[in-house]
Amino acid sequence: MITEVSSSLENEMNPWLAAEARFDEAASRLGLDDGMRKILRSPAREVTVHIPVQLDDGRLEVFTGYRVQHSVARGPAKGGVRFAPDVTLDEVKALASWMTWKCAVVNIPFGGGKGGVVCDPRLLSMSELERITRRYTAELIEFIGPEKDVPAPDMNTNQQTMAWIMDTYSMHMRSTVTAVVTGKPLDLGGSRGRTEATGRGCQIVTSQALKLFGLEPHNTRVVIQGFGNVGSMAARLMAQAGYRIIAIVEYDVTVYNDHGLDIAALLAHRNETGSIRDFTGGENVPQQDGLFLDCDVLVPAARENVLTSQNAARVRAKILCEGANGPTTPEADKILAEKGIFVIPDILANAGGVTVSYFEWVQDRQGFFWNEQLVNGRLEEIMVNSFRDVVGYAEKHGVHNRTAAYMLALDRVSFAMKLRGIYA
Ligand code: NAD
Repeated sequence: MITEVSSSLENEMNPWLAAEARFDEAASRLGLDDGMRKILRSPAREVTVHIPVQLDDGRLEVFTGYRVQHSVARGPAKGGVRFAPDVTLDEVKALASWMTWKCAVVNIPFGGGKGGVVCDPRLLSMSELERITRRYTAELIEFIGPEKDVPAPDMNTNQQTMAWIMDTYSMHMRSTVTAVVTGKPLDLGGSRGRTEATGRGCQIVTSQALKLFGLEPHNTRVVIQGFGNVGSMAARLMAQAGYRIIAIVEYDVTVYNDHGLDIAALLAHRNETGSIRDFTGGENVPQQDGLFLDCDVLVPAARENVLTSQNAARVRAKILCEGANGPTTPEADKILAEKGIFVIPDILANAGGVTVSYFEWVQDRQGFFWNEQLVNGRLEEIMVNSFRDVVGYAEKHGVHNRTAAYMLALDRVSFAMKLRGIYA
């Protein structure tokens, strides 16, 4: 019995199955024909490379890397590269299709891609990571490029990784091509506002949802899971906008203060001590209770599969803003819907990051860089319009926001494909 429950929970948490479930529901509601479903279900291209790399001790090791381009119907493939020991082709395929839908929801001219290298970065030195990155890039040289496929950072990769990819690609092209990747350091063609963009996008769409609920920022109690890039930035910007951040949930503890946490002070405490625990401006609460506190807005911004069939009934928020990718399983979706929780789905809520990546690509290609105010203003315009598009679609079709977001995305991608026609 226990094995049955754990294997059905494992299925529930499988990213490929979750992506398929959402795709199927949206495709059926849209009445998408079988042919189009077949095309959109399979990635346009999957590349597997085996990368020989010399380790620091002189041994040769071979690492496996993937790059999947799910769709290039609306523009170059766009999506991160992750380094992790458990990366699989299935996972990369699911994440690549996710990127297609995310870019389409915010209506930016990209398709979806994703990449990964099976390795454990904790066991590798910087120079080993550099050699892996460069050889991975060299093996993919004819598949990536500003007009083809534009990688970005993801799990365990960062600005430095992007600088190595950019340099390797440029060496092969015999000229500096900054637009081949996004998420670069500012001094190498990165964009202002990129680091804050995902958290900022969460704040923008949440403020739109609050208007629908007639909630004023100062009456809004927020719980955020994850105090990393997305969560800490969303917390900072929501606090600045006047929301009461009553709890931050981290992997080891929840810090709670019903009057609202001082986010700048909590960040300083975390930077000083390495943890949010024992912050004088709040109390420590058991970690596992944090997600289920009574609040107006819950922002899961840590990792995937945190809300499942096993715990979704305990959520006590009015609005769920999915800062993380895939924090809610399809089974949990049904429970949240029954409870009437207003979900701002990940492919909309955290699309601020890819939107400013798009701005980075545009600036690199123009060779003309924008100030932060311009970046943030344009991000706001896109996030507000996309929120309205999704909510409007949900009302028009009588579906929940997640299904509406997928329907909107599928509609846009399939329309582009119909206009282009099938090349034979
Ligand atoms: P991050 O590594 O900077 O931060 C994650 C934080 O979550 C860390 O502080 C970590 O300690 C905490 N955490 C991990 N497991 C936890 C758990 N079980 N309970 C509570 N806290 C936990 O990562 P990030 O860049 O902020 O990304 C977070 C999520 O947002 C991921 O799902 C990522 O795919 C998604 N996302 C990020 C971006 C971006 O621009 N960074 C864009 C889109 C989506």
